[in-house]
Amino acid sequence: MSRFFSSKFDALTPYTPGEQPKILNLIKLNTNESPFPPSKKAVKAAAEAAELLQLYSDPTASVLTAKMAEVLGVEPEQVLMTNGSDEILNFAFMAYCDEKTPVVFPDITYGFYPVFAQLYNLNYEEIPLDENFRIRVSDYVGINKTVFIANPNAPTGICLKLSEIEEIVKSNPDNVVVIDEAYVDFGGESAVCLIKKYDNLLVTGTFSKSRSMAGARLGFGVASEAIIQDLNTIKYSTNPYNINRMTMAAGIGALEDEEYTKTNCRTVCQNREYTVTELKKLGFEMTDSTANFIFAKHPSVSGEEIYTKLREKSILVRHFTAPRICEYNRITVGTKAQMDRLICAVTEILEER
Ligand code: PMP
Repeated sequence: MSRFFSSKFDALTPYTPGEQPKILNLIKLNTNESPFPPSKKAVKAAAEAAELLQLYSDPTASVLTAKMAEVLGVEPEQVLMTNGSDEILNFAFMAYCDEKTPVVFPDITYGFYPVFAQLYNLNYEEIPLDENFRIRVSDYVGINKTVFIANPNAPTGICLKLSEIEEIVKSNPDNVVVIDEAYVDFGGESAVCLIKKYDNLLVTGTFSKSRSMAGARLGFGVASEAIIQDLNTIKYSTNPYNINRMTMAAGIGALEDEEYTKTNCRTVCQNREYTVTELKKLGFEMTDSTANFIFAKHPSVSGEEIYTKLREKSILVRHFTAPRICEYNRITVGTKAQMDRLICAVTEILEER
């Protein structure tokens, strides 16, 4: 740290992204990316857009926003496209939390929430999940604070029902409730249908998972027109050209190929169920995931040992060190062939003991 760094960041621990290794032939199941390439329409559109990189991108992202609104069944004024969903989450922390408005989220959830809360020096509370890693809805009912909930939650993969999300949104009419739907396309129920009814709901989404575009950085928020106006104020005060030309074009291409996305999501869900069944046969215990990952532990082998031994066998999964979840690994669901390699490797690890 230099001697110039503001002391307001003394206590800040930055977010640690999952490893992006350069090793060849590694099976990468650690950051919940799609195992499938992006839609060909997305790739072609991005390549064409590259020809015009000398020009700034459209700050309003009007074509992409209109297409996204059409796919979601809302008005374009109710949508804001961002540089990954991390950016819309960042905007929401800036817009809806301050010294008078504290923020709450579960103790086990997306690791970026506490980082944003620290970055903005917010008063924040981490509400413990119950003993089965479930969000207790009653903890959030009428809490009168800004709420962030990932649904399905990460790294557990467990989702709340739409009626439970509605209860939280309805009971906090004077606070914004942010529902982070990064993983919703793998079996959760989206809360986008509630935005017409509740002016305090912001739903966020991403192209990083179901649309195979993690490297392009594209996310979005859906909310009342007034909330989208607020978030645009933040956007135009930080990064007006937040989406680059190639990503914008790729996003439009991906949205014109929704069948491809749906087929891939179905395959991931099938591979998840297959892997869950096989891991259970090997004695693993896991949460009921509706996401593109599995959160699993073994009663007789530590989470760290499984992580390390899988790595030695060129399979990378995500291991967390937080005390409540240190026995678990989060395993991204890949192709059937990748899942077979994983099951094979895990079988060997158990046999070698
Ligand atoms: N929310 C959750 C719950 C996530 O796990 C992630 C990705 N790790 C994100 C948001 C951010 O994803 P992106 O910025 O790639 O859209």
